[in-house]
Amino acid sequence: MNLEKEQLYQIFNIKNTVIIQELLSVAFGSKPALIFASDKEGAKIIKKIFPKLSIILEKPELNIAHKINHLSLIVIAKNNKLAKSLIKTHINNNMMQIGELLGYPSCCVNSWINRDYDTDSNKAIHKIYENSRNFHFLNNNLFNFSSRLRVYKGMYKDIKKYYRKNNVFEPVIHNLQFISHVPCSYDCKQSKIIGEETYQILNNNLPEFSKQVKSILKRPVLFFDIFNWVIFDGLVNKDGVLKYKKVVPFISLINSKLLNYFKEGNKIIVNNKSVEIFKDKKILYSYKKKNEVDGFILNFGNYKSFDISIYEKQKES
Ligand SMILES: [Zn+2]
Repeated sequence: MNLEKEQLYQIFNIKNTVIIQELLSVAFGSKPALIFASDKEGAKIIKKIFPKLSIILEKPELNIAHKINHLSLIVIAKNNKLAKSLIKTHINNNMMQIGELLGYPSCCVNSWINRDYDTDSNKAIHKIYENSRNFHFLNNNLFNFSSRLRVYKGMYKDIKKYYRKNNVFEPVIHNLQFISHVPCSYDCKQSKIIGEETYQILNNNLPEFSKQVKSILKRPVLFFDIFNWVIFDGLVNKDGVLKYKKVVPFISLINSKLLNYFKEGNKIIVNNKSVEIFKDKKILYSYKKKNEVDGFILNFGNYKSFDISIYEKQKES
């Protein structure tokens, strides 16, 4: 099955957007099902493009963001039986079963259920960071928020602001992931297998798009919290020092003064108390960390075969 350009365009324009690689994974049989929030129109478009998939629209107790936007819960599955049990387990809020039905690795579902922090806190990512010996880009979940959002006051505003700031990077900005769950570690083997399959499916259908997604995920990231981070075009050495050429212009909600120091600099050293920004040997700024988890580097690699300046041109035009 090959998708037409027009069909892909329609998928990209579904209200509140479905993650295209998740949808393709279900359509091509590598993932059993997915849940997302959209409206009737969105469900209709998917049904038309993928007539063999089972789609159920449900309006259970949704969060505030969904209510404001008149969104429903949409379940898409390879068969009707699975779609129905997903709705049922979702209403019963049985997280273990939901994870299983969505095809998530049990190691990851377990660690997510047994967590002792808010899903949107920086501790959530720091815990995964601590569990990881290596950081594989296929498991990079930093820019997919769906499983990490708790409805806190202002959350909906924050996410809207984030997408508005990055609207020149549509549709990539809404699809920055190869796994849709929260991994137990950034080298979790089971997650990597899922990520690789998703990557291949996306690559077969949208090679240029898949390259762009990879070029963001396979970079070092300095992480502060869910909407505050910086992606770099650079390398982390064995001592954990990040040397970089530039900041990748996907913007989080980070303080603009601080961001400018990163843009000016070319080297970062992080310790327990501070994040130090250098230009060659000269220190430009020392950011005092509020706690140990306020600022740490996740080294997802450096995707050299992609020309990052394409993003700068996009931003300027
Ligand atoms: Zn895992």
